[in-house]
Amino acid sequence: MSTDPTDTPKIVTVGEGFQVRVAVDNIAWIDLGEYALVVDALEQPQLEAEVFAAIRSALGDRPVKYVLNTHPHGDHTALNAAFRRRFGAEIINQRTSRLPPQGRWFEGPRRRVLMLPTPGCHTDADCCVWVPDDRALFVGDIFGWGLIPTGNLDAATARLLVDTYARLIEFDAATVIPGHGPLCTTAELKRWVEYFRWLIDRVSQACAAGESDRQITKQVAPPQDMRSWWRFLLWKHEDSLGTVLQAVRAARLKA
Ligand SMILES: [Zn+2]
Repeated sequence: MSTDPTDTPKIVTVGEGFQVRVAVDNIAWIDLGEYALVVDALEQPQLEAEVFAAIRSALGDRPVKYVLNTHPHGDHTALNAAFRRRFGAEIINQRTSRLPPQGRWFEGPRRRVLMLPTPGCHTDADCCVWVPDDRALFVGDIFGWGLIPTGNLDAATARLLVDTYARLIEFDAATVIPGHGPLCTTAELKRWVEYFRWLIDRVSQACAAGESDRQITKQVAPPQDMRSWWRFLLWKHEDSLGTVLQAVRAARLKA
């Protein structure tokens, strides 16, 4: 029996006028007072009617002035065109807009929102979105419930990942909104960094001891406390372990 929490999309209220539709792909709408903004725009254009109805029922006829994409991948941008058509919304991501390194604030009478470039973890165009009044942080695909967000892991990207996570943890968000799957908190961000470091140490030691890939894959088991993480046992731990093993064997993690 499946207990995947994303089997049924769920609308979670983070604050008044601030909701996330939590599913495999997440989208949020946030009321800033005179206008609303949306964070991420899903993969399936056929969800347009459902999403627009949910926004209307939460925010009335507040216009959606901006759509912020945490990064311009297809699973975060499908409804961009629909928001442009319906509201004349401006699409903001690191391809369409020039974002200063210290980020761009969107302000309204009700709350303000910061879009902050944090490039190089998942794509060269990653951004986070911080909503200080609600202590909510969108991290895009930088946090993937145990997944290492980059395909080309080396010493420089490992360092960048740890540094970027330190910046994200510093926000001390009460609600963390990943690009995909259930919401979490700053505790999971901290736990992931420990896991990442542990994987690298553990795999490096095993390789140095001359163990085979098969032995390592068997021995480096998913940590007990992370077994309930979304799809972690299904494939994420295995994927992350494989990424680290490849990088260690190729000596790419040597500084
Ligand atoms: Zn994604």
